[in-house]
Amino acid sequence: MKVINVAIDGPAGAGKSTIAKAASRQLGYIYIDTGALYRTVGLNALRKGIDIQNDAAVAGTLTDELSVELKFVDGEQRMFLCGEDVSAAIRTPEASMAASRVSAVPEVRKYLFDLQKNLAKTNNCIMDGRDIGTVVLPEADVKIFLTASPEARALRRHKELIEKGMETPYEEVLADMIKRDYDDSHRAIAPLKQADDAVLCDTSKLTLEESITLVIDTIKSKI
Ligand code: C5P
Repeated sequence: MKVINVAIDGPAGAGKSTIAKAASRQLGYIYIDTGALYRTVGLNALRKGIDIQNDAAVAGTLTDELSVELKFVDGEQRMFLCGEDVSAAIRTPEASMAASRVSAVPEVRKYLFDLQKNLAKTNNCIMDGRDIGTVVLPEADVKIFLTASPEARALRRHKELIEKGMETPYEEVLADMIKRDYDDSHRAIAPLKQADDAVLCDTSKLTLEESITLVIDTIKSKI
């Protein structure tokens, strides 16, 4: 049976994970959040206390002892770093910045490439990230570039952090968002950009429900 792969790329806070999760549930696909992989490598680098601005030092953390595993527990993706469930620990603002930094290191992208490829090979899935439609799954059946204005995205992320009990000022969230956007789209390797054959979905003015419907309708129209 042919496996269906849907690639959803876009900047931080566009609602990719919430929308992709809901769409996969409705379509009966698995949802793979690739940002969590970079976050786990970033968290590991932070914990090792290395200088994460130094590419060679970051590459040096990809040793045989490092184990990054993505598992599904009760249908939910969980991340394991050397056997420890770090699914919550990778969601802090520090882990976000570390993920963005380590994701610019070619060795890190190479390290995580096969893992992503193999997951897509055997599962109907919606995979979200920054370079899924352009680099990881250029042959995906459906490609969506999901975006929203920086202000709309920062507002949503700010609300999410508050719900998790993390009091970060909105201005700080917006500044982080703009910096991550810039870094993600200007890095030399696998920069965030819309694939030529991706459908653009802008959710700035849409409710969550409307965004989910837009994404599901886009997928259904292509498969
Ligand atoms: O999607 P999320 O915000 O969790 O991703 C964290 C960071 O990981 C992003 O800022 C981006 O730098 C990086 N990333 C990436 N390629 C992906 C997914 C995430 O470079 N496919």
